[in-house]
Amino acid sequence: MLRMENVNAGYGDVQVLWDVSFEVKAREFVVLVGANGAGKSTIMKTISSLLHPTSGTIWFEDQRLDHVQPYHIIDVGIAHVPEARQLFPEMTVLENLEMGSLCARAKPHRKESIEWVLDLFPRLRERRKQLAGTLSGGEQQMCAIARGLMSKPKMLLFDEPSLGLSPLLTQEIFRLASKIHGEGMTILMVEQNVKQTLAICDRAYVLENGRIALEGKGRELLENEEVKQAFLGI
Ligand code: ATP
Repeated sequence: MLRMENVNAGYGDVQVLWDVSFEVKAREFVVLVGANGAGKSTIMKTISSLLHPTSGTIWFEDQRLDHVQPYHIIDVGIAHVPEARQLFPEMTVLENLEMGSLCARAKPHRKESIEWVLDLFPRLRERRKQLAGTLSGGEQQMCAIARGLMSKPKMLLFDEPSLGLSPLLTQEIFRLASKIHGEGMTILMVEQNVKQTLAICDRAYVLENGRIALEGKGRELLENEEVKQAFLGI
């Protein structure tokens, strides 16, 4: 569904991604793991067209995405749940959700979509009239994911969803990600939380200094000696 081929990218003169190639098949749950600064968010920004590669190609189904405008991404069916959540703090939960369904594909289905995401996140149903800026960290993360789902995406990009959350809430967010995947959603997630994400994903790539160092099934990588030493402290 999504294919990145030999992508090089960076900021000004600083190259961050070096010849990165990977793919996510339809209905797969793929995770990119790596240490701080490995380039995980840069990959997400490149897919979302917030950053254009200096070379290489990005395909989503039969469309090239490497030099399109960011608004085009939502039209092709990709929803990016960004690292910093970026909700509209002065708007209610419901208003934030509505903002997620502005694209032509999603607008006619707004009502059903709201019911769908409020069923998925009962906590948000309780707090639907609350200002997003006053939600707890975990609730804000749920709201950001729900808003992403409101665009009726074919694929969800999760950028470090556990950032700033307690271990318990992190577990809850990962459980919800698995549930959304179970409903047929294709997911690409970047995470520093290696142990938990490798346990729930189908496949994973390990990113080291902007290069793909390893690839495999999540559970196989959990047993990999390099992964154990580098990320699991074993
Ligand atoms: P983390 O887990 O800490 O969020 P990451 O793997 O997501 O890290 P990136 O945010 O992609 O890493 O950053 C990769 C490298 O690019 C880092 O060295 C970072 O300092 C640099 N970088 C990121 N954003 C910019 C920017 N806007 N301008 C210049 N350099 C940047």
